[in-house]
Amino acid sequence: MEAGDWVPTSWRSKEAAQSVKYPDEAHLAKVLDKVKALPPLVTPSEIERLRHQLSLVQKNEAFLLHAGDCAESFAACTQENISAKVGLILSFSLILTWGARLPVVRIGRIAGQYAKPRSSATEKIGDRDVMIFRGDNVNGFNPDERTPDPERLLSAYFHSTATLNHIRGLLTSGFASLHHPRDWSLLHVRSPSLRDEYEAISQGLSDALDFTRTIGLAAGRETQSYERGGGRGVLGEADLYTSHEGLLLDYEEAMTRFYPIPDSTISRELQVGTPAPKKYYNTSAHFLWVGDRTRQLDGAHIEYFRGIRNPIGIKVGPSMAADELVRLLDIVNPEHDNGRVTLITRYGINKIATHLPVHIKAVQESGHPVIWVCDPMHGNTLTSSTGLKTRHFGTIISELTSCLRIHSECGSRLGGVSLEFTGELNEEGYSVTECLGGSMELSEEQLGLRYQSFCDPRLNFEQSLDVAFLVSNYFNN
Ligand code: PEP
Ligand code: MN
Repeated sequence: MEAGDWVPTSWRSKEAAQSVKYPDEAHLAKVLDKVKALPPLVTPSEIERLRHQLSLVQKNEAFLLHAGDCAESFAACTQENISAKVGLILSFSLILTWGARLPVVRIGRIAGQYAKPRSSATEKIGDRDVMIFRGDNVNGFNPDERTPDPERLLSAYFHSTATLNHIRGLLTSGFASLHHPRDWSLLHVRSPSLRDEYEAISQGLSDALDFTRTIGLAAGRETQSYERGGGRGVLGEADLYTSHEGLLLDYEEAMTRFYPIPDSTISRELQVGTPAPKKYYNTSAHFLWVGDRTRQLDGAHIEYFRGIRNPIGIKVGPSMAADELVRLLDIVNPEHDNGRVTLITRYGINKIATHLPVHIKAVQESGHPVIWVCDPMHGNTLTSSTGLKTRHFGTIISELTSCLRIHSECGSRLGGVSLEFTGELNEEGYSVTECLGGSMELSEEQLGLRYQSFCDPRLNFEQSLDVAFLVSNYFNN
């Protein structure tokens, strides 16, 4: 089918991996009609601005941070959790911007990251076989609530809305101001060296901003380079974009709207005076990615993804053949648009050296413009001796450093990182204990202390800042 024939329902004629079977189809249809009538969560101008910013990442003028929870839950949609997550994303990007002198494009796995692909359809709980938990927008974590309920899609819409509303509130009321980076919660960082390093950055930044104000400059490098993309141009304000895995196509279709491309983009891309063409925008998030389990060339997900105007991510793992990757790029980006495709690689420490160079070479030879991002989490999951799903900080760092090295050896460049992390604290102000190691040297015995993820294990605040310093030092040298 030609791109011009694409409609949001085109995917329905293809096979959808990981699809959900609802007991009552009429109920599902009613919910989807309601979702279709609800307002968009994000706008075409924001989506276009992100496309533009990603094209800067592709040109090595910015770095991409994609991070957040493996899966959000409805219960975790609270003021504290959202602020902690936004605070960590901002702290992480501050370290990078300051250390590497590179603007950071921030995309949260937030405000819609509810659905999870799973390797098995069922699990045994006690002596019962129940459907596996597929994420809060499908069924409940409680074994008695495992039947898929379409009302959860509506609930997902409203929880996404509440989350996004709080993020927008935080970003426009000074929380993200570069003048007060210490408000982004450092109080609980227990490692003195980590704290000192971060304090030194905040102090240096404050001095630099004071100096800038004194000599009367109105904009920093970050804002200046984004202005062409319609950035706000206010010193100290930050952009934070939202993303989720585009897994449940019924919902994604219902949130897909046909809108004119905003004016500022048209004047950049087309002749002034041409009537504004319309495109299909997925208005549930700025950025969507297709997972490693749903990226079949002839499958429903790729069919859906090829038609939307949003910038997209594709997970790339060891099972991806090099020619398959190029065919995939031909399908989703036939015009070779800049900033459109981000490849999120996740091989695992033992496989990266075999696969990444081959993938880089194939993409280079194809001429496709892409952004390369390292996800050092998903290929490195293991089960601890106490039966908890975990990841070792050292292994995560090894995949990341191998990735940086391989890109440079292949004449390519790593454009960003994709992490599962959380700034969440318990009531006493302690971070979660889900990944082993890091500057706090978390041991196997300590894993059970504050293991809060109901999906994949996440880096905690301190471990995340450790990663930020590592990447920042790499680009600084
Ligand atoms: C994820 O990002 O949480 C995930 C499931 O990743 P992948 O599709 O790469 O396994
Ligand atoms: Mn995950």
